[in-house]
Amino acid sequence: MNFIDSHAHINDEAFDQDREQVIQRVFESGVYKFIEIACERHEWKPAIALCEKYAGKVAAALGIHPQVAQTYDEAARAALPQFLNNTQVAAVGEIGLDYAYLHACPKETQLKVFEEMLDLANQVQKPIVLHIRREEENYEPYDTTFAMLKHLWKPASSSKYPGVLHCFSARYEEAKQALDQGLLLGINGCFTYKKNEYIREAVKKAGADKLILETDCPYLSPQGKRGTRNDPSNIPLIAQWVADYLDMPIQQLAEITTQNALDLYNLK
Ligand SMILES: [Zn+2]
Repeated sequence: MNFIDSHAHINDEAFDQDREQVIQRVFESGVYKFIEIACERHEWKPAIALCEKYAGKVAAALGIHPQVAQTYDEAARAALPQFLNNTQVAAVGEIGLDYAYLHACPKETQLKVFEEMLDLANQVQKPIVLHIRREEENYEPYDTTFAMLKHLWKPASSSKYPGVLHCFSARYEEAKQALDQGLLLGINGCFTYKKNEYIREAVKKAGADKLILETDCPYLSPQGKRGTRNDPSNIPLIAQWVADYLDMPIQQLAEITTQNALDLYNLK
């Protein structure tokens, strides 16, 4: 089977000791491509270097993660447009709002930088990778995001799917709003955790056609591997959970989600 990990952080320091061996294992695990997500300025260049090293197997998304929105300084603003035009860069991301992280980065800063990121995505006409996280049961960041998308975002016309709601972990209400805007849902280890039946129900209602698979490694290892370092070779394990829950053969889920990821990121 051919899987894609649509969201990985392989350049994270968690892989500093054995990055090449991990990547080797990934490509032997049934995962033939992954998308490296670079969240702030110092990660952009290394992400592109990783793509060049593993040409055709790794693509990048570059942006400013809402948790570090305050790092979007003049130097970063000056550098990002050119980085985004690099042919190795498939998307703008991850970008969005993280209201579980307001203690470290205030709402106003997150909103301002997210707006600037959408503006850049409009300019370069590349798909977006959204990170939206709420505090407890307050879904405000979702409502704010969907309103901002409606008013500020010009989806890339070249993409069948102009964006993804990464790490989907909300209700069907939020899934529905995402789908209405043409987004896919990124499914990772969160889907497998015992307490998250509401996520599984929402995903089932959305349907396999709207899904892509991701690890968000080194974080969020799937059930059975929790507490250990996650990496893209866990994608088949996540796929098995999803296929079982949706009651479909894993082969079929692999085909659908791989095609969706290729369509989203405009990859061959
Ligand atoms: Zn991530």
